Amino acid sequence: MRLVLVGPPGSGKGTQAEKLCERLGLTYVGTGNILREAIKQNTPVGKIARPLLDQGLLVPDTVVNDLVAELFRTARPERFVMDGYPRTYAQAIAFDALLSQQFLKLDAVINLTIADDEVVRRIGSRRCCSNKDCGVCYNLAFRPPKTENVCDRCGSPLSLRDDDKEETIRRRLVEFHRITDALIEHYRRAGLLVDVSAVPPMETVYKNIERALPQQ
Ligand code: AMP
Repeated sequence: MRLVLVGPPGSGKGTQAEKLCERLGLTYVGTGNILREAIKQNTPVGKIARPLLDQGLLVPDTVVNDLVAELFRTARPERFVMDGYPRTYAQAIAFDALLSQQFLKLDAVINLTIADDEVVRRIGSRRCCSNKDCGVCYNLAFRPPKTENVCDRCGSPLSLRDDDKEETIRRRLVEFHRITDALIEHYRRAGLLVDVSAVPPMETVYKNIERALPQQ
């Protein structure tokens, strides 16, 4: 099974990617993780990526395309889930070319759908530990702390992160749609797109994804 996962921030994309890997034995390919590792190792790519990640901006297409191409040429994952790549139309075109060079075909692109207002509600009910060494996050709706506004792990007060404020989330969502709509249309035209609602509980979303996957 070769999959791409697409979804806005707050859609639970990372969780679903993890479940797919665990339960279907797929290799996880997350460009966010690869970039964070490059930053930690201070590689030439890491040096380019650091200020962009700090500001929440996208790394240039050519840089991520090269990273993914290198990974497919060396590690050659045969069955995988892509999380966070392709993220732009140009990346999708480069990925199509890479896969065809490797004689690999995508089976499906899972599009996790959720209304912007629901994302704002979800992320807005996140509360994170104010102690930087702890940083555990809770969700008042799905995973509340045992005592209101107090971290279960270290007892520090919880707060709403600046990143999780409504204005910031709305800005990120506008950017997400501006960039991702063309990518989604590309895969819809290719007959690969599968829309799955990200609104139900995570386990139901996972079951719906499995049900929607082409039979192997
Ligand atoms: P993520 O962990 O997927 O949220 O990615 C974290 C950050 O890494 C993003 O905000 C971007 O700065 C960068 N990034 C990850 N994947 C890509 C990509 N496919 N294209 C450009 N930038 C990316």
